[in-house]
Amino acid sequence: RRIITTEVTEEDKRIEPNLRPKYLEEYIGQEKIRTNLKVYIDAAKARGESLDHVLFYGPPGLGKTTLSAIIANEMGVNMKVTSGPAIEKPGEMAAILNNLQEGDVLFVDEIHRLNRQVEEVLYPAMEDFAIDIMLGKDSSARSIRLDLPKFTLVGATTRAGLLTAPLRDRFGVVQKLEFYTPQELKIIVCRSARVLQVEIEEEGAAEIAKRSRGTPRLANRLLKRVRDFAQIKYNGTITKEVADFALDILDVDKLGLDCNDRAILTTMIEKFAGGPVGLDTLAASLGEDAGTLEDVYEPYLLMNGFINRTSRGRVATERAYEHLGIPMGS
Ligand code: ADP
Repeated sequence: RRIITTEVTEEDKRIEPNLRPKYLEEYIGQEKIRTNLKVYIDAAKARGESLDHVLFYGPPGLGKTTLSAIIANEMGVNMKVTSGPAIEKPGEMAAILNNLQEGDVLFVDEIHRLNRQVEEVLYPAMEDFAIDIMLGKDSSARSIRLDLPKFTLVGATTRAGLLTAPLRDRFGVVQKLEFYTPQELKIIVCRSARVLQVEIEEEGAAEIAKRSRGTPRLANRLLKRVRDFAQIKYNGTITKEVADFALDILDVDKLGLDCNDRAILTTMIEKFAGGPVGLDTLAASLGEDAGTLEDVYEPYLLMNGFINRTSRGRVATERAYEHLGIPMGS
């Protein structure tokens, strides 16, 4: 199983609740979002109102769910959690909305995957805090309006581009999450180590941070794996040596690329002479879904200058050749 996968694993589900920061103050990084949210939260609290609906977007594992829970904690309300693919019928969405308490946060993960009919229930709910329920059939059908408590919808998506305009327009606050710097990830790793009661040296934390693809979820996951090596092979303390040893075995390279990232770059270089190659062609050649390639793998490769996007397709950069040790033009 690939360790760099950004999907949530069973193990993540077990450890993440303990590692999640609960308040804005403990939340590391995403400076702009934190500053903005603090203003909105303080203002809403001062007015005694619920917070405007919030949309978070960005690659998986960067802290969207965590921020949603922080909003609920800071506002002193409960958070209900659901996701786009989990709700199939409009009635299910209506029932969830109807069960909310005043001020509650409703977190909808993968909100771009809501189907059209379910999404339409959200429009009046978000705008007027009401749902329209159809009674009867055909000519005798009429709709009645049911008032809802004032709530805050927090939507999360890795694919903001797939959101319909009417849904996107109903969010008062829209925030993009960025990859974390190695320095920020190092702080996160040290904090998680404290929570997990693992001894860790600065250089050990820095090494894990450097190889975590800018993603806290991966940083926490790598920390746990490295801890195992530290316990079995060393005296339990995570040093740079242990981190290097374990991460090499786990096939996460110095820049956080794993075998899949390298396969993408190698394919571009060897099969397509470094590009330009279209996203669909590249995805087909890797046996990967084009959407996953674009939203999960590509952002980090783009940000780190391994690939460029041009009007004619993706191109492998000099840095990619260098990192893989392939001479350019060979
Ligand atoms: P997303 O919803 O974007 O996929 P999550 O909110 O589930 O990501 O975050 C994944 C894990 O990463 C969380 O369990 C949390 O422990 C950690 N995490 C995310 N953001 C931060 C942060 N800013 N500081 C500390 N830990 C974080």
